[in-house]
Amino acid sequence: MTKTLLVAGGGIAGMATGFAAARAGWQATVFERAAEFSEVGAGVQLGPNVTRILQAWGLADALKQVAAFPAGLHARSMSTGEVLATLPIKDAVQLYGAPYVTIHRADLHGLLLKAAEREGVQVHSDAVVQRVDQTPDAVTLEVLQRGLLQQHKAAIAVAGDGVWSPLRQQLLGDGLPEFTGHIAYRALVAQADLPAHLRSQDVSVWMGSQAHVVSYPVRGGEYLNVVCLAEGQLLDDDANNLEALQTWNAQKSESQTLAELHHALRGACTALTDLMNACSDWRLWPLCGRPAMQGTQEHVVGRVALLGDAAHPMLPYLAQGAGMAIEDAAELAMQLNHATTEDVPERLLQFAQVRWQRNARVQARAVRNGQIFHATGPMRVARDMSLRLMGARLMDVPWLYGYGRS
Ligand SMILES: Cc1cc2nc3c(=O)[nH]c(=O)nc-3n(C[C@H](O)[C@H](O)[C@H](O)COP(=O)(O)OP(=O)(O)OC[C@H]3O[C@@H](n4cnc5c(N)ncnc54)[C@H](O)[C@@H]3O)c2cc1C
Repeated sequence: MTKTLLVAGGGIAGMATGFAAARAGWQATVFERAAEFSEVGAGVQLGPNVTRILQAWGLADALKQVAAFPAGLHARSMSTGEVLATLPIKDAVQLYGAPYVTIHRADLHGLLLKAAEREGVQVHSDAVVQRVDQTPDAVTLEVLQRGLLQQHKAAIAVAGDGVWSPLRQQLLGDGLPEFTGHIAYRALVAQADLPAHLRSQDVSVWMGSQAHVVSYPVRGGEYLNVVCLAEGQLLDDDANNLEALQTWNAQKSESQTLAELHHALRGACTALTDLMNACSDWRLWPLCGRPAMQGTQEHVVGRVALLGDAAHPMLPYLAQGAGMAIEDAAELAMQLNHATTEDVPERLLQFAQVRWQRNARVQARAVRNGQIFHATGPMRVARDMSLRLMGARLMDVPWLYGYGRS
């Protein structure tokens, strides 16, 4: 059998995997269920652990054209607006060998898609992967492609089909992800439409009680991405309809969204209230997840590897979900670099052994960050005091950003 790899899902994980595998000499095909790749999404932050990989893949120039390069990450009090501490993320290049960037998800996806197609990856949209079967020698994906059921055979398959991964449910049988009790409300606003004092080219995290707001520039700095993350309940209709809300673009009625935001931001300082009032067209995303990974069996089953949110969905409080998907893709490609079709199961196991603890650690740290960002009472006072005293030392995460640096 030739060196062939099939990917279910054409999101960040799927596209990065297709591209990286093709670079490693594999013939890659990606199946995406959406009829077209649209401008969906909001912003993502990418730490130097991720941009270092994009640089190694020859994508630094493409990144430069669409990303923003903030100088600082400010931890602020939601109630007073005080900057409690600043992490000078512009120093990431010097410290970690690559920049800390903020980027629109569609721009990141677009640059990976272009790179994948340049590398000869076959990308099929309107292609729903329905199931996977395998023998010791090969895998077969059953794909409903533009209404026609087709079988595709290869040496490896990758489930990059996101947090609701149908393939994970088939392979691991561990049920659906659960609502975490956290909801993200997202808006994108042109900096030109904001009054001067609300424009920013930096990252700000405004920490309140059981809620926080993150804002940062995207699209080369022309837009500000604003996300409010709040603990809350879902209405019955939404709770019964969770998967349909995971689209990057789900909306509720404006009055309901504004009422929920108003509640989450009670007691917020004027600067933050002004910023939130300047935004419109809010999108929401009920955050669903799974417990941190328990072992290699959640990454690999025979000749099938699970990557990205399919393997390790995480709260966005460490801003590393897409980052871990890209790290997964890079490691998989490294394992496949000198692999033959016969030693695929062994190589995939190696991949899983390298990745699962890293992913579990990031998942757990994201949960902890949420507790810190949303602290109330004496915990909140202690947090603010520590940030004032220790500043950047408390905010830097060398084990995260320095990963894999030679
Ligand atoms: C509010 C918020 C903020 C975030 N901020 C950050 C951040 O700052 N930094 C960061 O790194 N990450 C961030 N993330 C996380 C990041 O967006 C995700 O971790 C990342 O997009 C996961 O990529 P993925 O490819 O695994 O999944 P997805 O992006 O969900 O892609 C899965 C793809 O598979 C397709 N698919 C599903 N089922 C099938 C099927 N049966 N057949 C074919 N295709 C299928 C879907 O249509 C989709 O295109 C954030 C997430 C949220 C919600």
